[in-house]
Amino acid sequence: MSAILEVRDLEVAFRVGPLVRRRSLLAVAGVSFDVRPGETFALVGESGSGKTTLARAVNRLQRVSAGSVNFEGRRIDTMSRGRIRPMRQRMAMMFQDPVGSLSPRMRVGDAVTEPFRIHKVEASLKEETERLLSLVGLPADFANRYPHQLSGGQARRVGVARAIALRPKLIIADEPTAGLDVSVQGEVLNLLNDLRSRLGLAMIIITHNLSVVSHVADRMAVMYLGRFVETGPTEEIFRAPKHPYTAALLSANPEPDPDKKSARISLPAEVPSLLARPAGCEFHTRCPWARDRCAKAAPRSEGRNRLVACHFPLAPNASPPEKETVQ
Ligand code: SF4
Repeated sequence: MSAILEVRDLEVAFRVGPLVRRRSLLAVAGVSFDVRPGETFALVGESGSGKTTLARAVNRLQRVSAGSVNFEGRRIDTMSRGRIRPMRQRMAMMFQDPVGSLSPRMRVGDAVTEPFRIHKVEASLKEETERLLSLVGLPADFANRYPHQLSGGQARRVGVARAIALRPKLIIADEPTAGLDVSVQGEVLNLLNDLRSRLGLAMIIITHNLSVVSHVADRMAVMYLGRFVETGPTEEIFRAPKHPYTAALLSANPEPDPDKKSARISLPAEVPSLLARPAGCEFHTRCPWARDRCAKAAPRSEGRNRLVACHFPLAPNASPPEKETVQ
């Protein structure tokens, strides 16, 4: 099946510092990926890794410095504002803070149908409200509620209803379960999974929560300093991460099966500045497996379905060298 979204060598640069000493900061540094219809692709990494900037660039909320974004076969990163507007109906963004992204004075019914008014799409708003609330599992009378009368999980469902209002083909969800109790997180993830299969949606999930990734994502990409360091099928990566950064992130994720508990790989907390990227492998200042070569030469991203940017990909169940391990 051909991809609905194709991102190639994407870069996002910001100019920072005082006018006389402006410097360029590369927040996203040449990433490529595809998303196919009905597929969920997760972007994972610590805060500051570039995942949200990347998602905003894909959705044209952030200017692209280099590379290309094709959506439904059309290049959108260079499209004029007038032509991008209808495309936005087909690519919806779900923001992180469900209550904060709703107007406090707008009833739920008006909030979920607001996309119709913004995009001037004619429809019976009463029927659309009923359809959308039913799709996200909320009773019809919630249409009259205000945001402050919603629980965190209900507000998130309203956010989902808004995102699917115009029948998009791709949803970009930024931390879809942030701030929710674990039990409610599961409900929201089940809802997203259900909608994906019922509506044939493709999704990009941005998260630092690896439990979310294992629950919903078919494939994933791990970002570090704006680059992909490992991509591949979620199940494969969880079973045997090959990049040391991925292994460290996974080792910090609570393992539901006590028999599978593995040692936690601690990394130095200090993430290098994007203005002073380390030479060679940019992860070498924190990598427990780093060797001499790592500080001298940047690893190439090898592989097609499973990309790993490391000179020394890990074997399954690899443990860090003894002296570097903190358990
Ligand atoms: Fe670690 Fe070297 Fe691999 Fe970089 S290239 S992740 S420093 S082992």
